[in-house]
Amino acid sequence: MNIILLGPPGAGKGTQAQRLQSDLGMVQLSTGDMLRAAVASGTELGKKAKGLMEKGELVPDDLIVGLIKDRIAQPDCAKGFILDGFPRTEAQARALDKMLAEMAMKLDQVVEMEVDEKALTERVVGRFTCAKCGTGYHDSFKRPKVDGVCDVCGSKEFTRRKDDNAETMKTRMVAYRAQTEPLLPYYRARGVLKKVDGMAAMDEVYRQIRAVLAGA
Ligand code: AMP
Repeated sequence: MNIILLGPPGAGKGTQAQRLQSDLGMVQLSTGDMLRAAVASGTELGKKAKGLMEKGELVPDDLIVGLIKDRIAQPDCAKGFILDGFPRTEAQARALDKMLAEMAMKLDQVVEMEVDEKALTERVVGRFTCAKCGTGYHDSFKRPKVDGVCDVCGSKEFTRRKDDNAETMKTRMVAYRAQTEPLLPYYRARGVLKKVDGMAAMDEVYRQIRAVLAGA
């Protein structure tokens, strides 16, 4: 099954995608993670994306579409994938339709994670990740069981994203409203859009997503 998790920054797309990946073996495709890896390794793509990401603006469609096209063509994606952070513009959504058709693949569901905008900045500003295994945490909502030690792999190193601050969040929300939100009617019109309550507790959001997928 191939799905999109759609929602603003801080909606919990990455958290839910990680869990679907570990329970169902679907592959999480996060364009944000791919871009951060490109920035960290200093590739041409990374150099082009870095400044835009730090400002909270979107990276040009052609760069993103190329990235995702190469990734979807990898054999592991045949098991099914979860798009997390892509598509973010109507041009990207159209490019996705086209590449899936060319690869004889299809999009099964688009899950809208509905959230209260006021909660998003607090969610984003407090989050951090294990530098070794990528498990996500939050200062207020999900601290490691032992302070400073990753629950999953025991590492003591954590990272925080440069763009997870209140100032950049404003620009990211402007981009979301102007460029990504129009994808809701786009997918509604195709009959693949389902809504879950992104404000519920993490386990409940996950339960709702699994219910959507079971009905697909
Ligand atoms: P994310 O990790 O999904 O919050 O993405 C972090 C940043 O990467 C965004 O603020 C954009 O600058 C860039 N980015 C990620 N995915 C996309 C995309 N599909 N289109 C354009 N820019 C993207």
